[in-house]
Amino acid sequence: MTEQIDVLIVGSGPSGISTALHLARLDPTWAGRVVVVDKAVHPREKLCGGGLTHIGQNILANLGLPLEPTNFPVKEVRLLYHDKSYSFYGNPVFRIVRRDEFDHWLVKTAAQLGVTVRQGESVTAITPHDDYVEVVTDRTTFHAKVLVAADGSRSFVRRKLKWDDESRVARLVEVLTPEDPAKLPEFRDAVAVFDFTPMDDHLQGYYWDFPSYVGGQPMMNRGVFDSRAVPDKPKADLKEVLAESMAERGRDLDDYELKGHPIRWWSSDGVFSRPRVLLVGDAAGADPLMGEGISFALGYGEPAAAAIADAFARDDFSFAGYRQRLLAHPLFKQLGIRTRLARYAYLLNYPLVVRLGWSLMRLFLRFTPWKDRNYVPARLPEFRLTDLKSQS
Ligand SMILES: Cc1cc2nc3c(=O)[nH]c(=O)nc-3n(C[C@H](O)[C@H](O)[C@H](O)COP(=O)(O)OP(=O)(O)OC[C@H]3O[C@@H](n4cnc5c(N)ncnc54)[C@H](O)[C@@H]3O)c2cc1C
Repeated sequence: MTEQIDVLIVGSGPSGISTALHLARLDPTWAGRVVVVDKAVHPREKLCGGGLTHIGQNILANLGLPLEPTNFPVKEVRLLYHDKSYSFYGNPVFRIVRRDEFDHWLVKTAAQLGVTVRQGESVTAITPHDDYVEVVTDRTTFHAKVLVAADGSRSFVRRKLKWDDESRVARLVEVLTPEDPAKLPEFRDAVAVFDFTPMDDHLQGYYWDFPSYVGGQPMMNRGVFDSRAVPDKPKADLKEVLAESMAERGRDLDDYELKGHPIRWWSSDGVFSRPRVLLVGDAAGADPLMGEGISFALGYGEPAAAAIADAFARDDFSFAGYRQRLLAHPLFKQLGIRTRLARYAYLLNYPLVVRLGWSLMRLFLRFTPWKDRNYVPARLPEFRLTDLKSQS
C-alpha cells in the first residue's frame, strides 16, 4: 500500500516536532497534512546533557508552550581553566531537562494538535522523484511531496541520499553518577560546571558536570565534548580525559556505564536542502563552540515551516532559498558566529592565551546582565497552545 502525504518528517526529536508545531502555528490545518515517523517509541532514551538555554525556552514560549517537564534550574554556570574561573549568573541561567521526558512531552503536544506521530516505525529506503519522494518504512511506503530529515547527527536520510560530509562532527561521551545532593555544592547551589582544563590534552572542548534528576533520583550528568572544530590538530583521548576529570572529583569511571554519540555541527557553507528534501536539527548542524543542540534543533522549526508553506503556495519544491532563509535568520547568524569562534578558540588553545581569555571574560561579564543572580533571560509564552487549538 502507498500512502500519499504532503509532508513526511523523519525523526520526532526537537527539530522534527518543532517543524510540525511551527507549521501548525502558521495554519492549524497543516497539522493534518504532516506525518512524523520515528524508529523509537517515546519516552525514548536520548544521550544528552539536557541543557536547555533561554534560546530554546523562548522558542517554546513563542509557540505558547510553558516548559512542563521537570527540570533542574541552573543558577550559576562556572567556566574553569585550571585555577581560573568565571561565572554566568541568572534565575535560572538555563534549565536541565531529561530528554526522554522532554521529547515525549513535545510529541504529545504535537499529537494533541492533530499531528500524526507514528512511533516504532523505521525508515529503510528513500528515492527522490520529480513529483514526490518515495520513503519506505518497515510498515508502509509513503509518497511525500516534501521530506524533512530530522533524524539526528547520524542521519539515515543524509547517508541514503549520499549527502555525507563527515568533516564537521563533534565527539561526546557521557556517564550518569548517582549522588547525594546534600554533599555536593553543585546541587545545593545549582551550579553547572564547564571545565576547559583538558584543552591542554588536545581537547577542543570541555568536561561538564550537570546536576540532574533521573526518574526522581539525583544524578550528576558528567561528560566530555570535543568539537573537532580544528580537525587537523591531534585528537584527545576522550575516555582518558573523562576518567581523569572524574578522578579529580573522586569518581572512578570504571564504576559507571560510558556512552558516546556525535553532534554534527553547522557550517554556513553547508548544503541544507535538495529538491523536495530539507535538513533540520543535528542532521543539518548544531553548535561547535559549546555543543548546544536542543535550542538550535527547536530553532530550525520556524524557517523550515516557512520554506515548506512557501513551497506549497508557489508550487515550487526546489527549496533553492532554504539556505538563504537560514543564513538570514538571527539564530543561524549566531550559529555562524559560534562556528567561527570555535575555530579560533580551539586553534589558539595555548595555556597563556586561554588564561588571558579567562581574565578578559571575567572583566567583560561585569558589563552584562549575566553578573546578576536575579537576571531572567527566558521570556514567558506570548500565547498559549490553547489559542492555537481554539483556531482549529
Ligand atoms: C552526549 C551529548 C550531550 C549533549 N548535551 C546537550 C546539552 O546539554 N544541551 C544541548 O542543547 N544539546 C546537547 N546535545 C545535543 C543535542 O542532543 C542534539 O543537538 C539534539 O538532540 C538534536 O535534536 P534533533 O531533533 O535534530 O535529533 P535527535 O534528538 O537525535 O532525534 C532524531 C530522531 O530521529 C529518529 N531516527 C533516526 N533514524 C531514523 C530512521 N531511520 N527512521 C525513523 N526515525 C529515525 C531517532 O529515533 C530520534 O528520535 C548533546 C548531545 C550529546 C550526544
